[in-house]
Amino acid sequence: MPSSVEALAALPLRDDLVGLHPYGAPQLDVPILLNVNENTHGVPADVHAAIVEAVAEATRGLNRYPDREFTQLRKNLADYLGHGLTPDQLWAANGSNEVLQQVLQAFGGPGRTAIGFPPTYSMYPLLASGTGTRYVTAARGAAYTMTPEDTARAVRTSGANIVFLCSPNNPTGTALGLDVVEAAYEAGEDARAIIIVDEAYGEFAQEGTASALTLLSGRPRLLVSRTMSKAFALAGARIGYLAAAPEIADALRLVRLPYHLSAITQAAANAALTHADTLLANVEAIKVQRDRIVRELETLGLSPAPSDSNFVFFSGLDDPHRVWQGLLEAGVLVRDVGIPGSLRVTAGTEEETTAFLTALATLI
Ligand SMILES: *Cc1c(COP(=O)(O)O)cnc(C)c1O
Repeated sequence: MPSSVEALAALPLRDDLVGLHPYGAPQLDVPILLNVNENTHGVPADVHAAIVEAVAEATRGLNRYPDREFTQLRKNLADYLGHGLTPDQLWAANGSNEVLQQVLQAFGGPGRTAIGFPPTYSMYPLLASGTGTRYVTAARGAAYTMTPEDTARAVRTSGANIVFLCSPNNPTGTALGLDVVEAAYEAGEDARAIIIVDEAYGEFAQEGTASALTLLSGRPRLLVSRTMSKAFALAGARIGYLAAAPEIADALRLVRLPYHLSAITQAAANAALTHADTLLANVEAIKVQRDRIVRELETLGLSPAPSDSNFVFFSGLDDPHRVWQGLLEAGVLVRDVGIPGSLRVTAGTEEETTAFLTALATLI
């Protein structure tokens, strides 16, 4: 737990960090955890066995530094993503949060500006402040949508050096049209802006939702980040990655710590990638529960946002905090993202989802 505010204030902290709050989704001991969009299906048995075997093997060589270039991992990630990507277009780090931090270290920093479109991922402003990058925001349209025209205008008028597009967006759940990404890219031409499309939930998208990976060719300032924390059920392993032009990886090599991906991390990631099929089967099961939540919330008279992710954002609550508390008392932890009348819930297993829906129905 953090120590006292007074003790912190007495430290010679960097001026731009004074008064900031750390990322703090509550980590409570509750039977049903549907609050941080983890994969609720656990690590499948074959994936578990493969990781244990690969890590055991890697452990023998721990006296040596790991492959600094994580060569096998970049190859496996390129094969997994497809779209004709080559290993030199892939980059990985300890969670996509670290990937995004490295992007800000290389392309942001003092005198530079990043732009986000709230409500969106709460880590963007924190990563910006940690790297001394100014963070500005632009509004979304009705029902949290973004249009190509408004996005382009915000990118142009802000003169941002880095543009965060979260698709599917956390916390609202909906994916962006590729026309929004294209418009942001073109609007960023003058400032040579780096456009990051954060596709942490890309595998959960609805049928027919295209990935920004399809736009990479010919766009050297476009970056698409992904993670193994959600679809791949490996939040605890800390593995995130991005795909972009090869020179982007060269830029990130300038700021990464040497040997930033441990041999154990690389072994675990490679083992999981060889079992992608099992993991993606669970993604399909989660999508079924996600769609069920949307349908049943509508039946309850609430307003869920369309979801391309493994969670559902819903509005129409008179007192979201009371509902959050009532769910907690029923053993279900969901997320209060601080948006009036709204909560966010991760799609669980069938039983967890039933417990959530049953408890919710008694509370509204
Ligand atoms: C969960 C999440 C991530 C993943 O972070 P990791 O560091 O890879 O665990 C990234 N972006 C968004 C929008 C997320 O919700």
